[in-house]
Amino acid sequence: MNFDEAPVLIFWETTRACGLACRHCRAEAVPYPLPGQLSPAEGARLIDQFAGFRPRRPVLVLTGGDVMERPDLSDLVSRARQLGLPVALAPSVTPRLEEGALAHLRGLGVESVSISLDGGDAATHDGVRGVPGHFEDTLAALRRLSSLGFKLQVNTTAMGYNVSQLAAIAAIVKDVGAASWEVFFLVKIGRGQAEQELSPGDNEDVAHFLFEASRYGFAVRSVEGPWCRRVAAWRRALPAGTDPASAFSLGPLYRHLTSELVRLMGEPLGEPRLASAGTRDGHGIFFIAHDGTAYPAGFLPLALANVRDEDPVAIYRKHPLLIAIREARFSGRCGRCEFREVCGGSRARAFAASGDPLGEDPACAYPALPH
Ligand code: SF4
Repeated sequence: MNFDEAPVLIFWETTRACGLACRHCRAEAVPYPLPGQLSPAEGARLIDQFAGFRPRRPVLVLTGGDVMERPDLSDLVSRARQLGLPVALAPSVTPRLEEGALAHLRGLGVESVSISLDGGDAATHDGVRGVPGHFEDTLAALRRLSSLGFKLQVNTTAMGYNVSQLAAIAAIVKDVGAASWEVFFLVKIGRGQAEQELSPGDNEDVAHFLFEASRYGFAVRSVEGPWCRRVAAWRRALPAGTDPASAFSLGPLYRHLTSELVRLMGEPLGEPRLASAGTRDGHGIFFIAHDGTAYPAGFLPLALANVRDEDPVAIYRKHPLLIAIREARFSGRCGRCEFREVCGGSRARAFAASGDPLGEDPACAYPALPH
């Protein structure tokens, strides 16, 4: 798919206000809106500008902070829908996520909602969220959203705290009937802690595990872990009957997670649905912060311009960094790798590690290629 003219997903951080203070929060959310947040009038203008993307209409993901803290949310959704933009919400699970408000948003045309779940049990999830009882609240919210007819996505941040529970989380994804599971590989930004990032070897085990998990009836996508697409390509080419653990020298984490998958959900039934669209930060993905600053993605804090001053369509299409990312002009291993188009490495992690958004992704286990 060509991403030069329009992204597939636009994430708009409508506010940084949020009632939670999660330990890995990208936005470093705070209880109240920060000064400089785009006003309702500026938000409406921004949506009008998003409608200028052609040839495809991007999906507008309204996020935060907590998008439910945005008083003009209904107006923003209505405007986007009138202009033909599909709208998804990424709210926090707080008392604001109540049935009446959700039914209203469903009636306005919101099709899908993503909810974060970061543990397979209450102790782990609540520990990440910092709120006792939040695990049960999250399960209840997922069931409420499902009963209202929303397409559900569960988002999970894979990190040291919870990596051993990924199979248990996958079982919950299946149990609540989610259409997709999006697994984010931690990048040290915001409140994300470097020590919680997984090693390249563990990332490889998790990527192979996700390939297995995607055979249980829901699609699996990775965020800031594009090497999952390299793994998916390898796995699809693996002759039937070959043991992946032996073929790819996978570690105990892979064996633990895949045996847990089978213990919790039985043998997989379907074809693998590990997404392989070649998006990456700035290449099909575009992020607008609460104050109108445009970034290649929410996890790549390199300001491109501000939508108060420049049309977001022009920023996306013409910014030299985004063009370089789209042309896969990378250095290091990513620059030499045969998977640089389909994968290309996490640009956010390359920047976090070296200050170069076109550098190599140090979380990838693929061996260095000859110079
Ligand atoms: S070296 Fe870079 S492009 Fe190649 S698989 Fe790893 S992260 Fe992807």
